Amino acid sequence: MSLQERDAQYLWHPYTQHKTAAVPIGITKGEGALLWDENGKQYIDAIASWWVNPYGHSNKYIADAIYKQLTSLEHVLFGGFTHEPAVVLSEKLMTILPSNQKKLFFSDNGSTAVEIAIKVALQYYYNKGEKRTKIIAFENAFHGDTFAAMAASGISFFTEAFKGSLIEVVRIPVPEKGKEEESYVLLRELAETNEYAGFIFEPLVQGAAGMVMYEPEALDVLITICKENGVFTIADEVMTGFGKTGKNFACDYLTQRPDMMCLSKALTGGAIPMAITTFTQQLYDGFYDEDVNKALFHGHTFTANPTGCAAAIASLDLLQQQQMQDNLVRINKKHLEFKAKMEKHPRVKTTRVLGVIFALEIERESEEYYGSFRNRLYDFFIANGVILRPVGNIIYVLPPYIIEDELLEKIYNTIQEAIETVM
Ligand SMILES: *Cc1c(COP(=O)(O)O)cnc(C)c1O
Repeated sequence: MSLQERDAQYLWHPYTQHKTAAVPIGITKGEGALLWDENGKQYIDAIASWWVNPYGHSNKYIADAIYKQLTSLEHVLFGGFTHEPAVVLSEKLMTILPSNQKKLFFSDNGSTAVEIAIKVALQYYYNKGEKRTKIIAFENAFHGDTFAAMAASGISFFTEAFKGSLIEVVRIPVPEKGKEEESYVLLRELAETNEYAGFIFEPLVQGAAGMVMYEPEALDVLITICKENGVFTIADEVMTGFGKTGKNFACDYLTQRPDMMCLSKALTGGAIPMAITTFTQQLYDGFYDEDVNKALFHGHTFTANPTGCAAAIASLDLLQQQQMQDNLVRINKKHLEFKAKMEKHPRVKTTRVLGVIFALEIERESEEYYGSFRNRLYDFFIANGVILRPVGNIIYVLPPYIIEDELLEKIYNTIQEAIETVM
């Protein structure tokens, strides 16, 4: 039996309507920016496997670090114990995080990193005896699929079934160029009620919405409004972190600094599930008390798993290599060239680039997130050996940083062909 047939017996896949979806492709090997399926067909991983894998598949440097860790201390509980990999990782991260970030809390995935940030914002005020129980978020945000993260997410069909069970979240529009004032006014109105504990946002790029981008100056204004009104700001850098925007973090483009940051995805180079939420001293101090009830009673069995930490340390080493930083610049330049070529195309509505992220919107009336046009595009890309997952009428590229120019050009050419043929 093929992998596909054996898969269909027992497995349930994410974001999949199994009655109508095509059977999943059985992947047997990954190397660099390439993947191979069980029939030997080759694919370019043009989205770094959902944005987790900047340094290439089966990366030897990360694999060696993991093996070394597995054979000295694979895991130990983090309640009452600590270990070298967690300590070293915290020291290394502190050298690149915004300077107001002073404490790290580990978990396993992007959703839990967000969950923890929201719980900390709410409990901070609970500990102080102030009633702030609501959160502010952007329209069309995506922050994950657990309950608080889902409440903060604004892509409605993801969360429709759970509406009645979610914490209260009020949305403001993303500050679109020329219409920023709308977002500022609405945020100020909300913040001034003193009912909100936090404002969560994907800094500069909303990934799941289709790489929707906005300006750092506007985010600076929004953060300032929150600061003036005691609303904690949560930068969800789960997608944008570790070089995607051309800098270590999207927040590095800001003059203001968020109170919390959520990190995951590229943290371990795609090798091991791990996440970190980071905090200012003020937030930490809000839980630091003689009263045990004021502690953050949150934890996961695999908190700060040493093997995950070792993978993250190795990933940071790779990110900081000059060659990797040069890759970011090279890919950005290629993207800008492709953008210049495509922006005048009669079937292209808009194009945008930040760092290694490229996005292009095809001119269409309206498109559903997983609509039939989107599915035809997806099928075309897969048939041509390029893994791209369009969002409605938006095609985006977010390749591993180690991708060679030749493969990048193959991706661009395939996109061009798709625009000509899939209409
Ligand atoms: C992917 C993502 C998440 C959720 O991360 P998971 O690891 O899938 O739970 C949260 N926020 C953003 C911005 C993301 O891109």
